[in-house]
Order: sequence, then structure tokens, then C-alpha cells
Amino acid sequence: MTTARFWRENASRYNMTGAQCTVCGKVHFPPRSVCPTCHRKSIGKIVPLKLKGEGEVFSYTVVHEAPSQFEMQKPYVMAIIRMKEGVMVTGQLIDIDQNELSIGMKVRATMRKLGSDGPDGVIHYGYKFAPVRQ
Ligand SMILES: [Zn+2]
Repeated sequence: MTTARFWRENASRYNMTGAQCTVCGKVHFPPRSVCPTCHRKSIGKIVPLKLKGEGEVFSYTVVHEAPSQFEMQKPYVMAIIRMKEGVMVTGQLIDIDQNELSIGMKVRATMRKLGSDGPDGVIHYGYKFAPVRQ
């Protein structure tokens, strides 16, 4: 499956809907139908949970060598975000200066254009993370 199809066919990516195991309370994103902690006990006990989109930077890396469709935006920052719900999500950090970067900084998910299939292709959207500024 190509990256483009992946985004198009996963509606949960657009609104960041995860899944919560009602047995242990753990939140999973992307959503899954069986909890890796509770296994069989969790079958039928997983409920959708819309993530608030708020979290903090757990770890990050500055990417200098990017695939061609990202050529315009490099270097860019990829981060692992620990969401308020406790789940870890990987995404690009945007609207940030590199010397502003720090572990633990507050960020919020935002829908942005991810790329397109060629010059007149379909445009894809998905979440990225931007810093929360007071
Ligand atoms: Zn569980």
C-alpha cells in the first residue's frame, strides 16, 4: 500500500481517533481491536476514543535528508509526542524554530497538507504538530 492510499483510506487519521481498552484503560493509536496487554479479555471491550490532539514532545530528530516530496521543507523535525491520553504518536513538528525545540514542550495536532500525487494529483491531509504558545 502506498503512503497516499494509506492516508486516504484511514479516516481515523484525520480526526485522531484512537481506541481505549475498557479492561485496563489503555489508549491505542492507531486504534486496534485487541489490547496488547489484555489480549482475549479485551475482545469486545475496545471503544473508540477521540484524542484531544494535545501532548508534549517526548523525543525529536531533525531530518536533513528527506524523500523528494518533502524536498521543499527540509530540514524538518520529526517528533514522538506523548499525547494527554498517554499514547505515543509520531509526527512532524511545524511552525517551530530549531533552537526553540525542547523535550517536554507542549504541542497540538493540526491538520496540514501532507503532499500530492504529482502536479495535478490528489492532495492529502493529515496531522502535524505545532507548538502551543502562551
Ligand atoms: Zn487492556
